[in-house]
Amino acid sequence: MASHHTLIVIGSGPAGLTAALYAARANLSPVVFEGIQPGGQLTITTEVENYPGFPQGILGPELMDQLRAQAQRFGAQSLFKHVSKVDVRSRPFHIWSDEEEYTADALIVATGASARLLGLPSEKEYMGYGVSACATCDGFFCRSLEVVVIGGGDTAVEEATFLTKFASKVTIIHRRDALRASKFMQEKASKNPKIAFLWDSIIEEILGKNENGKKSVAGVRVKNVKTGMTTEMKTDGVFIGIGHKPNTDLFKGQLDMDVAGYLVTKGKGTATNVQGVFAAGDVADSVYRQAITAAGSGCQAAIDVERWLEGQE
Ligand code: NDP
Repeated sequence: MASHHTLIVIGSGPAGLTAALYAARANLSPVVFEGIQPGGQLTITTEVENYPGFPQGILGPELMDQLRAQAQRFGAQSLFKHVSKVDVRSRPFHIWSDEEEYTADALIVATGASARLLGLPSEKEYMGYGVSACATCDGFFCRSLEVVVIGGGDTAVEEATFLTKFASKVTIIHRRDALRASKFMQEKASKNPKIAFLWDSIIEEILGKNENGKKSVAGVRVKNVKTGMTTEMKTDGVFIGIGHKPNTDLFKGQLDMDVAGYLVTKGKGTATNVQGVFAAGDVADSVYRQAITAAGSGCQAAIDVERWLEGQE
């Protein structure tokens, strides 16, 4: 027997938890599926310095714990479960967490985005052992080491600049001969004596070592895409900064998406192409991708749900 709820929120980053806070205060008793990373992307960062209201900054996990507690204070319920399947083709909507089935009158999708990876087996093998997709999480471990950053957008350049606080040298490896990052970031990076660039190059393999049962990164095999020449470069760490992928696989064929897979919302609101399904946060935003904008759109989604439900009665 499926358990029925007025509103189910999928995702527990700033968008999902803010939606839950507003929906709870509107007496909608929202149920939040927190997923495999409760609290979302901010839980793998350290200091958050640009969330308004915290002049001294706040730790990402602490901010998310407070946001969850605030939503729960008004009756939001968190389920620390992963949604494995959804069906929004008819109402009530159906949501499954493996064998468990849930139904809902309205749905807010706040599943966020995840860092893109290169897709190399060696990248997977050394993830957490010298390979990372989050400089703010792992930069601290690079004190006095030489590392590389892959990518040419704002993420890569920002991560490289951040890493120079710890590492002795950071090489940005980019597949073309020009950065995509904003001019300001480019200038800042080019003036930084610790940052070097390797152009027209792709990573073919991440090379590792295993000393006394301890895995670590030893280097990268790099191919110059113009000359075809392959070289090995010594490095202690590899940071992947090639963008993000929206977490929308669950909704393929059911909700409208743009070419990059981000959910498409209508006009200024959060409504998707399916009545009763709303989208908030990074899952529908390839442009701003900030905690505060995600929280703002979570608030919008809850208000949109409330109004939509009223119209159904
Ligand atoms: P982008 O899509 O802008 O850049 C991705 C970069 O990675 C590109 O240079 C791309 O190369 C490269 N790339 C993509 N796939 C591969 C691959 N398989 N192998 C090698 N290289 C690859 O993503 P970002 O995350 O950098 O930025 C996304 C958005 O977020 C942008 O709008 C950006 O401005 C914004 N942002 C803003 C920040 C800020 O203002 N502080 C910080 C971070 C992001 P190519 O150029 O050849 O396509």
